[in-house]
Amino acid sequence: MEPSYAGIQCVIRAMDRAVVSHREHLIDVAVPLPIDGPFTYRVPEGLSERIQVGSRVLVPFRNKIRAGFVVGVGNSPRAPDDLKDVADIPDEPPYLTAELWDFIRWVADYYLVPDGLVLRTALPPGSDRRSQPWVILTAEARELMARSPDHQSVSLPPKLLRSGVMLRRELERTVGSEWVETALDQGWARIEERIARPRVGLGRRRLPELLNPVRSRVGRAGEAPELTADQQTAFHAIQAAARVGGFEPFLLFGVTGSGKTEVYLRAIQETLAQGKRALVLVPEIALTPQLARRFLRRLGGGVALFHSGLTRAQRLDEWRRIRSGQVNVVIGARSAVFAPLERLGLIVVDEEHDPSYKQEDSCPYNARDMAIARAKLGAACVILGSATPSFETFVNAQRGKITRLDLPGRYHGGALPNVELVDLKTAVKSDQKRAFLTPPLLRAIADVLERQEQIVLFLNRRGFDTFAQCRSCGHVFKCPNCDISLAHHKRARDLRCHICGFSRAAPPLCPECAGSKLFFGGVGTQKVEEELAALFPDARIERLDRDAISRRNALEQILERFRRKEVDILTGTQMIVKGHDFPGVSLVGVLCGDLSLHFPDFRASERTFQLIAQVAGRTGRGPDPGRVILQTFDPGHEAIQFAAKQAYEQFFDQESVMRQELLYPPFGYLVLIRVEGTSQRRVEDNAVAIGRAARRFKGGARDVTILGPAPSPRRKMVGRHRWQLLLKAANRGPLRDLVGAVQAEGRLKAHGLKIVVDVDPVDML
Ligand code: ADP
Ligand code: ZN
Repeated sequence: MEPSYAGIQCVIRAMDRAVVSHREHLIDVAVPLPIDGPFTYRVPEGLSERIQVGSRVLVPFRNKIRAGFVVGVGNSPRAPDDLKDVADIPDEPPYLTAELWDFIRWVADYYLVPDGLVLRTALPPGSDRRSQPWVILTAEARELMARSPDHQSVSLPPKLLRSGVMLRRELERTVGSEWVETALDQGWARIEERIARPRVGLGRRRLPELLNPVRSRVGRAGEAPELTADQQTAFHAIQAAARVGGFEPFLLFGVTGSGKTEVYLRAIQETLAQGKRALVLVPEIALTPQLARRFLRRLGGGVALFHSGLTRAQRLDEWRRIRSGQVNVVIGARSAVFAPLERLGLIVVDEEHDPSYKQEDSCPYNARDMAIARAKLGAACVILGSATPSFETFVNAQRGKITRLDLPGRYHGGALPNVELVDLKTAVKSDQKRAFLTPPLLRAIADVLERQEQIVLFLNRRGFDTFAQCRSCGHVFKCPNCDISLAHHKRARDLRCHICGFSRAAPPLCPECAGSKLFFGGVGTQKVEEELAALFPDARIERLDRDAISRRNALEQILERFRRKEVDILTGTQMIVKGHDFPGVSLVGVLCGDLSLHFPDFRASERTFQLIAQVAGRTGRGPDPGRVILQTFDPGHEAIQFAAKQAYEQFFDQESVMRQELLYPPFGYLVLIRVEGTSQRRVEDNAVAIGRAARRFKGGARDVTILGPAPSPRRKMVGRHRWQLLLKAANRGPLRDLVGAVQAEGRLKAHGLKIVVDVDPVDML
C-alpha cells in the first residue's frame, strides 16, 4: 500500500520537463524572502489557464518548494534551458494586484531593502509556504518490516509505521540522524520536499462582533450631519480635487474636537460616489474602537477592518474580500497601507504625527510617508489629519507641497482648555510621599468630584515604582537582558522589565549585600491609582495601561464604563491620549509633563509637545472649556510653555531653528544603521567595519556626515547588544549612494548578526 499523502501536495517536477510546445508560457515570480526578485519560471502545459497576476504559485527555489506570487505573465518562443518549471498552482483567488506590486517595489527602493522583504511584510500572515524534507519508507522497507518485525534495530515511531511518512526533522529527533542516513543508504527510505496544502477559508467564519452589525445591513449608511463653515471649506477643496482626479495631498490641521473625522467621512463618501475606494489609516486600531465604529455606522457595508484582534484566518479572509473587490473602504493600522485595494481614490491618515505609523524591525517603513507615495503612484488624494502635525508634514505644507486646510475652532465652540502649570520642584518637596499628587491638583480633583464630573490623569509610566534600589549598598535591580532598571509592580509583587517583559519576584533581601531595606523609587500609574484610592475613598477610579488591559476586551470595557460615567477618575499612560472622545471630562492632569523630554532623541521636544497637547485635548469636548493642570520640573522649557498655550506654530518656528542648524529632519535626511547580536565583540567589530567602509566611500565629500559608530542609547535589548551609526545629509541622493556602496560591498550582512538599515528613522534609541 502506498502511504497516504492526504493534505500534502506538490512534488518537484523540475526534472521531468514536458515536451515543449512552440510557445512557452513564462511568469515572473516574487518570493517573500529578503532578496530582490522577481524570478522567471516556465509554466507547464495544463496549468497556464490558472495563471493570473497576483496568483500564488509553488516554485522550486533553493532546493525547496515555496510560495511565490506572480507579478508578470508573458510568453516566449523559446525559453532558456536552465529555467525551472512552476511546481504547482493552488486553485485559489489571487493575492496581489499589479498596482500593489508596483507600490511594493517603490517601497523597497525607497527603504533600500529587497522587494521580497517588503512583499513579506505586505502579505497577510500565513501566505508564505515552504516545503520541508519528508522521510518516506520505501515499499522494500515496509515489506522487510512486515516479514521480520524484530529486524528493526530501533523502535520506530508509530506515526511513521502507520503512515509510512514523517517529517525528517521530527523523525531525527526520535531515532537520531544516523538511523535516517543509514535508511537512505540502504534504500529503505527516500526524501521528498513537500508542503502541506494551504488552508483556504473564504468568508464563512464568524467575524468579530465589531463587524457583524454592519455586515448584516449592507448599503444602509448613517445620516451625515451638516458641516460647519470651516468643515465646508476643507471638504470643498478635497471634493474638487477628487472630482478632477489625480494625486493631491492635504494636511487637515485642526485642534482636537474640531471635527476632522466628519471631514474624512464626507471625503470618503465623495470618493465612493466617484466609484472609487478609500483607505483609512489609524495609529492603533485596538485603542480606538469607538472611531472604527463611527466609520462603520456611517459608511454602511463594504467596510473591512484590519484589526489586530483578527486571527490569521480572518485576516486572510479580509484580504481576499478586499482583493476580490467586495470592499470599498479599508480601515486599519499601518500595515493596511498595503491593502490590495484597486481603484483607490483616497487615503486618510488620522493622527498622522503618531509614532506608531513607523514600523521598527527588519523592514522599517513609515506608513504615513508610504501612504503619500501610494497615493502618488495611484493618482489619489491623501488627507493627513492632526492637531499637532509632524514637522515633516508641516514643512511640506509651508513649502506648498501639501495643501493645508485649517479647522481652527472646536465643533462645540468651546474654547481650548485653560492650562495651569504646577512646578514640581517646589510642590514635590513639600509632600514627598504623595508623589505627583500635588496640593493644587488635589484641590482641583476634589472640586470636580464634588460637581460629579470626570477626570483624566496622565502619567507616561506604568507600574508602581519605577526602580528598586538597596538602601545600604545602592544596588539597583536591572533587567539581565536589557540593562534598564526594573519597575516594581506592587499588586503582582514582582519586578518587571518594560522592554522585554522579564520579571522576577521582589526579593526580601539585596542580592549584593543581603541588606533588608529596599527602596522603591519613582512613580508609576499603579502607585497613583493606589494613592488616589486612599485620598478619595468614594471616587470610582480606573487605570488604563498595558498591565490593566492584558485581559481581552478590558480596554473597551474600561472606556465604555468611563463614557457611561460609571468611573470618576481615569488614570493611565499614552493609551488615554489617543483620539477618545469623552464629553464629561472637565479636568485633565498631566502628572509629570517632562518625562519624555530628556530622551537622547532630537524629537524629544516635539514628542512632548504632542503628548501634552493631545492629553489636554481630552477635556472641554463638551460645551465647557475644561481645565488642564500640567505639572513639570521644568516649567520654563519651551516645549512645555508652548504646549500649555497650545501654540503649535510658535513651537514649530522655535524648534525649527535648532533642527535647521543641525540638519535634522525635516531639514535634512537621516539613515540609521544598527548592528545587533548576542556577541558584544562581533557587534562592535562589525559596526566599526561598516563605519570604516562608509568613511572610505565618502572620501573628502562634505555632503554626508557620518556619526558613530557607537553603542546605541539602549545598548542592550532583549539579550542583544546594539551599536549604531547615523548618516546625515541635506539631500537624499548622496545618502542613498553611500548606503548603496556599503551595501554593495556586502558590509550590511553578517552571519548571526542583525543589521538594520533604517531610512528616516523615528526611534533613535
Ligand atoms: P476631531 O476628529 O477633530 O477630534 P470630531 O470629528 O471627533 O473631531 O468632532 C468632535 C465632536 O464634534 C464629535 O462629537 C462630533 O460628532 C461633533 N461634530 C463634528 N462636526 C460636526 C458637525 N458638522 N455636526 C454635528 N456634530 C459634529
Ligand atoms: Zn528586559
